[in-house]
Amino acid sequence: MDSHVHTEWSWDAPGTASMARSCERALAAGVPAVAFTDHLDFTAWADGDLIGAQNLDPRRYDRMRPLEVAGYLAAVRECRERYPGLRILSGVEIGEPHLFGASAGAAVDASGFDRILGSLHAVPCGGRLTPADHLFRIMPAAEVMRRYFAELARLIGGSDLFEVLAHLDFPRRMWPREAGAYDEAAFEAEYRAVLRALAGSGRVLEVNTKTPLASARLLRWWRDEGGKAVSFGSDAHEPWRVGDKFRLAVDVVEAAGFRPGRDRFDFWRR
Ligand SMILES: [Zn+2]
Ligand SMILES: [Zn+2]
Repeated sequence: MDSHVHTEWSWDAPGTASMARSCERALAAGVPAVAFTDHLDFTAWADGDLIGAQNLDPRRYDRMRPLEVAGYLAAVRECRERYPGLRILSGVEIGEPHLFGASAGAAVDASGFDRILGSLHAVPCGGRLTPADHLFRIMPAAEVMRRYFAELARLIGGSDLFEVLAHLDFPRRMWPREAGAYDEAAFEAEYRAVLRALAGSGRVLEVNTKTPLASARLLRWWRDEGGKAVSFGSDAHEPWRVGDKFRLAVDVVEAAGFRPGRDRFDFWRR
């Protein structure tokens, strides 16, 4: 199944985004289930959010806006009726859940989402939550990755709201050409620290097929560090990308020793 799909309810959705079209695409592509994990991001903090105590400006992107949860859930119900042959999970991708624990926790408690992803898109730097793409303009590329992994370890330790860690090396998508080819091995210690923390909390690693695909070696690090389950996510923001590159991703995950779970809707497991 595709456990990471965005729709028109995400603030960064292009005009072509569509929950209904994504359902049709999944059915056409033989993807048995999708989780619609639209962005749950906060542009202001509430009492109890760590970001308030850290005095950081939370606005990482100008266009960012909160999720309209009621409208989103109504759209999910409508799609479930319209496409009975597809299993549809509700969900969210929580940005920086360790910094917005109270806000995100309240939304999660009220909504009963089926699948919750945790994500880091921005890192505290210079008094604000700074997006990864911006960091590459102000510091060496390797330093961006090290800061990202360090903050990701804090995210895992600081939030139990999510079940699946999304795109664990997100800034890799924006790795600058002039820094040469991206080399996972150069950050093995940092990857392993993150994977150890995630495995220790009993959670699931996502293989994200929008990010340059993880290697089988990286997934073996996940196994070594105690990781037991893998989730597949296209991170599609447009219908045509639902299930994109999953055949290749399955080969990589299988090469690292993971197998299909109980049924087609389960995570892959060791
Ligand atoms: Zn994301
Ligand atoms: Zn996403």
